[in-house]
Amino acid sequence: MSVVSQNLTEIRQSIIDAAKKSDRQGGDVELITVSKTFSVEEIEQALEAGQRVFGENRVQEAYSKWPILREKYADIELHLIGPLQSNKTKEAVALFDAIHTVDREKIAKALAKEISTQQKQMKLFVQVNTGEEPQKAGIAPRDAVAFVQRCVEIHDLNICGLMCIPPFEENSGPHFALLAELAKKAKVKKLSMGMSADFQTAIEFGASHVRVGSAIFGGRG
Ligand SMILES: *Cc1c(COP(=O)(O)O)cnc(C)c1O
Repeated sequence: MSVVSQNLTEIRQSIIDAAKKSDRQGGDVELITVSKTFSVEEIEQALEAGQRVFGENRVQEAYSKWPILREKYADIELHLIGPLQSNKTKEAVALFDAIHTVDREKIAKALAKEISTQQKQMKLFVQVNTGEEPQKAGIAPRDAVAFVQRCVEIHDLNICGLMCIPPFEENSGPHFALLAELAKKAKVKKLSMGMSADFQTAIEFGASHVRVGSAIFGGRG
C-alpha cells in the first residue's frame, strides 16, 4: 500500500471521528484532496486508493495534470480553491466542477457569462476574508451576505456555500464560527473550511468540505 493511500485511510477515519464528536455523520463531510504542486504520478496513488474529489489552486497547473487523469478515471470531481483571475474564467469553467473563490463583482459577472455560454452545472462558494487580512483574497465579512444575494439574484449563480482560510498564526475556531454564522444569514448551506492542521476543528464548527493537502501527500517543500 502506498503512503498516500495509508494517509488517506487515516484522514478519512479522523473525519468520521471528528464528525461523531459533534453528532454528525462522516458522510456529511466531503474530503477534498488538495493536489497542488504534486505530480500526476503522486495524484494517481490517491486515485488508486479510491479518492475522486480533488482541489487545485491554479488554473494553469490544473490543465497540465487533470485532462490526462480524466481520460483514465471517470467521475473525478475537481475544485478550484485558489484565486481566479477574470481572464481565466473560461478555462476555469471548462475544467472545474466547483469554484471556492468567488469574491468580487467582476468575477461573479464573468462566471455568470461563461457558465451560461458553456451550459455547465457548477457548485460555487463565496470566499470570505474572515481575518480581514489585506494580502488575502475574499470578500470582507460585513459585505458577504449582500454579495451572496447579488450573486444569486442578479447573476443567477448557484452559490451553495462560503469558504475561508483563517490567518495562519491565529486560532481557527472563531473564524470557522464566523463563517458558519454568515452562511446562516446568507441562507447558504455549505461550508468549505479546514485544512491539514485544523480540519477536525472545522468539522466541529460545521464544515461540509475540508481541503486537505500535506497530511495526505506530504510536505510541499
Ligand atoms: C494548499 C491549500 C489547502 C491545503 O493545505 P494543507 O495545509 O496542505 O492541507 C487548503 N486550502 C487552500 C485554499 C489551499 O491553497
